[in-house]
Amino acid sequence: MTSSPPDFDYLIVGAGAAGLSLAYHMQQAGLKHKRIALIDRAPKRGNDRTWCFWETSEGPFEPLVFRRWERIAFHGEGFSAILPLAPYRYKMIRSADFYAFFEDWLPRQPNITRCFVEVVAVEEDEEQARVVTREGMVLRGEWAFSSVAFTSPCTPEDRYVHCWWQHFLGWVVHTPSPTFDPEVATLMDFRVPQAEGEVRFAYVLPFNAHRALVEFTVFSRSVWARDAYHDPLRAYLSEQLALKGYEVIEEEFGIIPMTDADLASKQHRVVRIGMNGGDTKPSTGYTFKRIQQRTRAIAAALASGRSPHTAQRASFRRIRQQLFDSTLLNVLDRRRLPGKRVFTDLFARNPTARVLRFLDEDTSLLEDLLVMRTVNIPAFTRSTLAALWMRLMRLRGNGA
Ligand SMILES: Cc1cc2nc3c(=O)[nH]c(=O)nc-3n(C[C@H](O)[C@H](O)[C@H](O)COP(=O)(O)OP(=O)(O)OC[C@H]3O[C@@H](n4cnc5c(N)ncnc54)[C@H](O)[C@@H]3O)c2cc1C
Repeated sequence: MTSSPPDFDYLIVGAGAAGLSLAYHMQQAGLKHKRIALIDRAPKRGNDRTWCFWETSEGPFEPLVFRRWERIAFHGEGFSAILPLAPYRYKMIRSADFYAFFEDWLPRQPNITRCFVEVVAVEEDEEQARVVTREGMVLRGEWAFSSVAFTSPCTPEDRYVHCWWQHFLGWVVHTPSPTFDPEVATLMDFRVPQAEGEVRFAYVLPFNAHRALVEFTVFSRSVWARDAYHDPLRAYLSEQLALKGYEVIEEEFGIIPMTDADLASKQHRVVRIGMNGGDTKPSTGYTFKRIQQRTRAIAAALASGRSPHTAQRASFRRIRQQLFDSTLLNVLDRRRLPGKRVFTDLFARNPTARVLRFLDEDTSLLEDLLVMRTVNIPAFTRSTLAALWMRLMRLRGNGA
């Protein structure tokens, strides 16, 4: 069967964090001669999320960074500390600023065509990718890069995959009197009531002495109804932060998959990117920096004539880190240890920079061993064996 010639070189499906970042990195990599379609159901505006991440140097969107912190607070089991982050800084980008940057930048990119359509399928054969819209239109491209998911990233029925969720609701609160220390972000505050089978903590990002984003976060197998976070969040604001009068300025709600399912599974002409393409760190939910790394690598591969699939080669370090992620999920899933204990061991018994490097998958084998020495070894060994077994069963199931 011969297919019609492609309308575009690249179809970017979904213009959120991953799609917009990919378009940006493509242009930066010198792909301005390529015909690119940027497809989303609608232009993105407003502050629907805030992205935080840590970094040692300047990132691609440095001018958009809204706040930076050099110290974090951690409150765990029998351990509370303010930890310096050097050489890292914890940074926040507000999505409203990110989207506004692109509303200004995109009209100046003549090779990028924006299409506002509802996508119902992203298909492929060996030669081209096709995007099908609700109106029945078909867009053809040499490659499609899709951050749009048509099914849930993981199914709890899959016995050989860990399928957890990080879900949270946060308020930007404003207080009449100075309340927050703007120099210190609270990464994890476990001084909230815990429950069997869940990990719960609060997260505080102060913008200034009067204003902060305060979130109540849960890791668990299933998500909560949106209004279920209000009471624990209110209790945290009054009991731990001792806030009396405050105004809620904004609300943020999010659900992020924490799974070791292979979301980036290899296809021919469709490359899955973003949260639904496996760019989320399964054990933490952090995604934004990994999106930058991967989309930059995809753009570099295309610019040098390589397949974009080469942007994610398996390496010994990557396989090791995937095993750590699966192990941690297994510890939580099988309730071998409370999450509060696991994260306290990591932060109390390691230099903070080592923990951040470990979570960034930048550690050497020796450093990985140093980190592993600080956790509960019997529980983690059992979970490593269980995670290996599950991986093996998945490989067998895939016919490998
Ligand atoms: C509230 C919130 C806070 C977060 N905070 C952090 C953080 O602090 N740090 C971090 O590292 N990660 C964070 N994340 C996780 C992750 O970084 C974000 O979810 C990020 O936006 C993922 O990028 P994405 O491009 O994969 O998805 P999105 O940004 O959601 O983009 C997907 C795009 O696809 C479009 N789309 C979907 N379906 C269709 C369709 N059928 N047809 C056409 N278009 C469609 C959507 O309109 C959207 O624009 C957060 C997530 C949320 C939800």
